[in-house]
Amino acid sequence: MADLSSLAFVEQALAERAQSQRLRSLHAVHPQDAVYVLKGDRRLLNVSSNDYLGLSKHPALIEAAQHCSRDYGTGATASRLVVGTYDIHQQLEHDLAQACGREAALLFSSGFQANMTLLPLLLDRQSLALCDRLVHNSLLQGVLASGARLSRFAHNDLAHLETLLRQAASKGYRRVVIVSETVFSMDGDRSDVEALIHLAQRYGAMLYLDDAHALGVMGPGGMGLAACRPEVDLVVGTFGKAFGAFGAFVTCSRALRDYIVNCCPGFIYTTALPPPVIGAIAAALRLMPDLEGDRQHLAHQADRLRGELHRLGYDLRASTSQIVPLVVGAEEGALRLSDWLEEQGILAMAIRPPTVPPGTARLRLVLSSQHTADHLAALVQCIQTWHEQ
Ligand SMILES: *Cc1c(COP(=O)(O)O)cnc(C)c1O
Repeated sequence: MADLSSLAFVEQALAERAQSQRLRSLHAVHPQDAVYVLKGDRRLLNVSSNDYLGLSKHPALIEAAQHCSRDYGTGATASRLVVGTYDIHQQLEHDLAQACGREAALLFSSGFQANMTLLPLLLDRQSLALCDRLVHNSLLQGVLASGARLSRFAHNDLAHLETLLRQAASKGYRRVVIVSETVFSMDGDRSDVEALIHLAQRYGAMLYLDDAHALGVMGPGGMGLAACRPEVDLVVGTFGKAFGAFGAFVTCSRALRDYIVNCCPGFIYTTALPPPVIGAIAAALRLMPDLEGDRQHLAHQADRLRGELHRLGYDLRASTSQIVPLVVGAEEGALRLSDWLEEQGILAMAIRPPTVPPGTARLRLVLSSQHTADHLAALVQCIQTWHEQ
C-alpha cells in the first residue's frame, strides 16, 4: 500500500531548494532605533525595512498603543461582526475615509489577507483579471482563488493593457477587473493612476489598486496615490510599512463596504485587529499631515542615492520612490554584495527569484526619512568601494 503520510515530498522540495542555492531561512535581528539593528553583537545600518518614516519607533505611536492596551486589553477577543468592533475601530475607519475623502473605509487584518480575499469577492469563473506583470504575490493569490481567467500585461505597459481590454470586450465576461499597484514593491516605480482610471472607464472595467508603498509617503497628506481617488473602485493600503504598525484597510464606496462586511470570508471569519495596533495606526494617521518635511527629505535622499548609483553605472529599473533596486542580475552576485555590505556594517538584503523575475536578482535598497545624509554617504561609499575592487 502506498504510504499516504510520507513526508518525502518535503525533504525533496528542501533538497531541490538547497541544490539551486535558494534555500531560505530566518535570521533574527534586534531593532535599536529607526535605522539601526543589532545582528548578533553587530550594529548594522538597516536599508531593508519598510519603515519609511521611522514611525514604528515613534513615541506617539508607542504611547497610543500602550494607552489602548490599558483601556481595551491586548486582544479584540472576537471577530468584527461578533463583539470585536470597539469604538476605536469605528473611529479609525471614519477618520481613514475622511482623510482619503472617500465614502467608506474598512480595516483588514493584513494586506495579504485583504488582497487574497477581496479579489474573489469581485471576480468569479466568468470574469477576467488583467494584472500588471509585477503585481505582488497576494494579488495573484487572490485572482487564483477566484477562479477567474488571469491575463497579465507587460509591466506598466498601458498599450498592452488596452489591447487586452479591447480583446476582452467581445468575450462576454461577467466582469473585468484591472489589478495593479501604485508604487511597485520590488522596482520602486509607479503606475500611471490617471491613465488606469481612464482605461477602466473607457472599457467598463473595475479598477483595483494596491497602495502599500505609497501610503504615508506620497499623495495628499501622505494618504497615497490612489486611496483618495473615488474613480478607483477599491484601494488597499497597508499599515505595516510607512504607518509603522500592522494591518490594512480598503477604501471604496459605501455599498461595496457593506458588501464586504456581509460577504467577505477574510473579513468575517477572523479576529478584529487588536487595540494596541489600532492605537498605533490612529496615532500615525494623526501625524500624517505634519510629516510633509519628512516625505520631502525621503524623496530628496532617494533622488541623491539614484544619482550616485547611476553615476557608477548601475541598473536601478525605473525607480522614482524610496525603493531603489540595485539590479545585479545573477543571484550569486547579489548575495555576495549583500554579504559584503553586511561585513561593512550595512544590512541590505538580496531579493532573488521567484520574488523577482529570473536574471534580475537585486539589492532592494530602501530609504527611511530617518536616514541622514551621513548614512546615505556611508552606503554610497561602500557600494563604490565594492564597484571599484
Ligand atoms: C507588503 C505588501 C502587501 C502585504 O501587506 P501585509 O499587511 O504585510 O500583509 C500587499 N501588497 C503589497 C504591494 C505589499 O508590498
